[in-house]
Amino acid sequence: MNAPAEEYSASDITGLFDQYVVPNYVRQRVIVRGEGSQVWDADGKRYLDLGGGIAVSSLGHGHPRLTKALSEQAASLIHTSNLYYTEPQGRLAKRLVELTGPGKVFFCNSGAEANEALMKMARLHGSSGPPQRRYEILTAMGSFHGRTMAGISATGQEKVKQGFGPLLEGFQHLPYNNLAAFEEAISDKTVAIMIEGIQGESGIVPADVEFLIGLRKLTKKRNILLLWDGIQCGLFRTGNFHSYQTILGDDLGDFLPDGISMAKSLGGGFPIGAVWMHESVADTLQPGTHGTTFGGTPLACSAAHAVLDEVEQAHLVDNIRERGQQLLEGLIKLGAQGKPFAELRGVGAMIGVVLKEELPALDAVVKLADAGLLVVPAGGNVIRFLPPLNITSEVIEETLSILEKEL
Ligand SMILES: *Cc1c(COP(=O)(O)O)cnc(C)c1O
Repeated sequence: MNAPAEEYSASDITGLFDQYVVPNYVRQRVIVRGEGSQVWDADGKRYLDLGGGIAVSSLGHGHPRLTKALSEQAASLIHTSNLYYTEPQGRLAKRLVELTGPGKVFFCNSGAEANEALMKMARLHGSSGPPQRRYEILTAMGSFHGRTMAGISATGQEKVKQGFGPLLEGFQHLPYNNLAAFEEAISDKTVAIMIEGIQGESGIVPADVEFLIGLRKLTKKRNILLLWDGIQCGLFRTGNFHSYQTILGDDLGDFLPDGISMAKSLGGGFPIGAVWMHESVADTLQPGTHGTTFGGTPLACSAAHAVLDEVEQAHLVDNIRERGQQLLEGLIKLGAQGKPFAELRGVGAMIGVVLKEELPALDAVVKLADAGLLVVPAGGNVIRFLPPLNITSEVIEETLSILEKEL
């Protein structure tokens, strides 16, 4: 018989992982519960969660609105398959279209799947020309687009590809924020350009205004789709629903990609992915071309509705702008006091601290966790802050004082 969870000690649990779980992650702690922006480990130690489960726990932990939405929907209808219509999916598609622009939405379960759908849509779109079949997708160096075969083929980082070849054909990686390099790489095979608004995994690197405006002009002129990986940088994290709205600000004009992938924060921790497709390509995927069993279940969509409701009703956009600013200003102050920061990068609640060479990110992350602060390493020498959108000013203050003491 299996013992109830509370009879397992931390070492019992890590022992189970050592013996039975595929060792493809570096894991740090045994986390047993959470509340707001805090979590507790198996020994009762408390941590501030400034990583937010890698930009996922948008309402923090144990949020009453999310918990209620999930339990009520679970009691009524968890799943039907996509052979049927359900109200939560239809209404969520409408909300995402209203937050983005004229188009339609496809639902899936993760970020990699969302990018996969974008890339399949683009290839199908290019399959009829003109003038001949087009399939190539240009992406950026340092990008991250997921761990499926198409995802690692699209990702502009050698380390994710090692040992998995032969990869999918038809990708080229160009220097991020280098418009001329993308322009030069376009050929009669090119069907799309895909970029992140802010590169997350490689250490919080935002796109330039000129690059984005130039890319949109270029892709329109050359009849190429502009695909936007908004999985980490979207969903209000930068203080607007999409990061291009924040990056472009007054220069936004009529800027709109042709397709946008979303996941991470959308369900507040419940797995859901979504792809918005502009009305000009929204009917590309017809019956039989693409699908997924679980995509857009009533349960997953109810979680996303709860997140969107809370963002609206609790004015979380204002909160994230203010808290992001508070954290960034505090970090700037710490940098000026001689902390080993080589650079600070960030927009809203997506902040990267580039550490000086003597301090590898993984060491810093472990040290901070020992002191009760969870952050996420990126790109070797960067620590990432991806907090819940409802993080409080008190938690930010406590975070800054831990950083002041420990680094
Ligand atoms: C996390 C992430 C993905 C992959 O999402 P999964 O849900 O892990 O499959 C893709 N692109 C970006 C930019 C991400 O941050």
